Amino acid sequence: MAEPYKPYVQQWLQNGLKSRRNDFFQFINTQLLVEQAQRNVRYKIEQQNRGMGNCINFGRSNSSKMQQNQVPDLALNLIPRQQSIVSPSSIQCTINNQNNTTIGTPSSSGVSSASSSTTSATVLKPITDNNNNNNNRFQYVALFDYDARTNDDLTIRKSDLLEITYRKNTAWWKAKNENGQEGWIPSNYVAKRDSLESEPWYFKSIRRIDAEKQLMSDVNEHGSFLIRDSETKKMDFSLSIRDNDSVKHYRIRQNEDGRFYIARRTTFITLPELVTHYSKTSDGLCVNLRRPCVHIVKPEPDGLSHNLVDKWEISRRDIKLIRRLGHGQFGDVWEGVWSDNVSVAVKTLKPGSMNPTDFLTEASIMKKLRHANLIQLYAVCTIEEPIYIVTELMKNGSLLDYLQSSRGRQLKMSALIYMATQIARGMAYLEQQNYIHRDLAARNVLVGENNTVKIADFGLARIIKEYAGGMYEAKEGTKFPIKWTAPEAALYNRFTIKSDVWSYGILLTELITFGRTPYPGMTNAEVLRQVDQGYRLPQPPNCPLSLYTIMRECWHAQPENRPSFSTLQYRLENEYTGENPEFSN
Ligand code: ATP
Repeated sequence: MAEPYKPYVQQWLQNGLKSRRNDFFQFINTQLLVEQAQRNVRYKIEQQNRGMGNCINFGRSNSSKMQQNQVPDLALNLIPRQQSIVSPSSIQCTINNQNNTTIGTPSSSGVSSASSSTTSATVLKPITDNNNNNNNRFQYVALFDYDARTNDDLTIRKSDLLEITYRKNTAWWKAKNENGQEGWIPSNYVAKRDSLESEPWYFKSIRRIDAEKQLMSDVNEHGSFLIRDSETKKMDFSLSIRDNDSVKHYRIRQNEDGRFYIARRTTFITLPELVTHYSKTSDGLCVNLRRPCVHIVKPEPDGLSHNLVDKWEISRRDIKLIRRLGHGQFGDVWEGVWSDNVSVAVKTLKPGSMNPTDFLTEASIMKKLRHANLIQLYAVCTIEEPIYIVTELMKNGSLLDYLQSSRGRQLKMSALIYMATQIARGMAYLEQQNYIHRDLAARNVLVGENNTVKIADFGLARIIKEYAGGMYEAKEGTKFPIKWTAPEAALYNRFTIKSDVWSYGILLTELITFGRTPYPGMTNAEVLRQVDQGYRLPQPPNCPLSLYTIMRECWHAQPENRPSFSTLQYRLENEYTGENPEFSN
């Protein structure tokens, strides 16, 4: 054992034997004790050199950083007597510093002053026993703002600490804030305080292409960063950093001891420590970590409110129609407001346009389909005519109208591909759920903010009946949009997820041509005949060859030879991100 640490270890062992936590010590191996002693001695030296050490606080309780692995408990118990008068939060602070000191790299002596502009360095306030108890109750932290929609909801603001008092279902929880106010909140707006999810820079399992989109948005800047789960290796993470006009990605691995590293020479017990280190110094990265990426999309709460998750017939009186957005085959579509404060879209069905039983069956199927790239069905009013179908409102209307507008025409290729990727994701979800859409086209995709797109009108979708061998026989006399329809569906009424893949290929041509009608100058009858004889749309001008290759695969004469939507999603997500030799994913 190295000499300087010996007395500390002996001291702790003695204290430990005297303490009521004796049994705890039998689980500690000597190696850990030595390591802890080394950290504390180094910390003491560091404190002497630096005066007072601050620790980086990411705007929330630091307790979260403690529990990402088992070390913190151990550390708390191993803080030497001389330091035992400090509060738990101060101890946390010292631990962070110890680690920074321990893992110092040659370049850490040149710690850049940029750290002050990155994350505000804060000395943690000691907490008294009273508010410590209080603190323990508030085990959750708000990740996003949520404005109360009903009188029994609770308005929360990002970083609010919350106590969860009742979990009604997985989607809505009752929460109490530090002022004692209580009400319902969407559960996907909060995270456990002691968790990685509560870190503002942790974006869970978002894909590389989404990381790039978010980091490149105007609200983010050079040095904005996020950490996400690796797409390929379960235990690894990826660090994505905005580097002026591009995004760089670095793999965060774990060594044999479970320590995190980007460069093997510098390892960290926890991800927050890694972030703290690279906030202070770029240490080989393209830029030091400056600001956690700002979320450009908030998750949608599940349903309109806590009592409309399972129940979905609502009173017509709760809906105010504001302005007509458009009209379709079955009636008008309106922008409306639910409960005086939630913007919604309301499809009003012309009386007699649909058999109410068919409608309710269809609607109950749609209600169960929940995906970020599918329009969410909120509720229905079926008691009186006309029937109202209340759904998520998409600010920019249909994709077809958007592509043809002056704003849409300015979309860059990367934005168009990003939209195509989202549509493939929504369809891959339908595929996985054994649903078919039957009318996939740009007119049935809606556009929200930041080029978010969602598939609408899967009202025609039907669960694929096992006995029909995965095929849905269209009703006699049903009209199809021929130019979007696969030949076997148009000619023999055979609709499968593979006929949706065909339509997706046509939709790609709409995207790339900014909403031009497919097969310009050809009638429906000509298209049907020519396509059956092997004719296919030519490569549109400005369409990358690799994308045209995908379109051609979607139009394979044999449905089974067309790619699946999950393959399409994978290919779009992986083939169309910026070239980046630094990323090994
Ligand atoms: P149909 O499905 O009846 O054959 P359609 O798809 O052309 O016809 P609708 O779905 O009824 O039409 O929608 C008509 C228009 O209303 C759309 O083109 C779009 O501009 C607008 N719209 C529909 N749903 C929404 C929504 N959720 N948010 C915003 N605008 C919408």
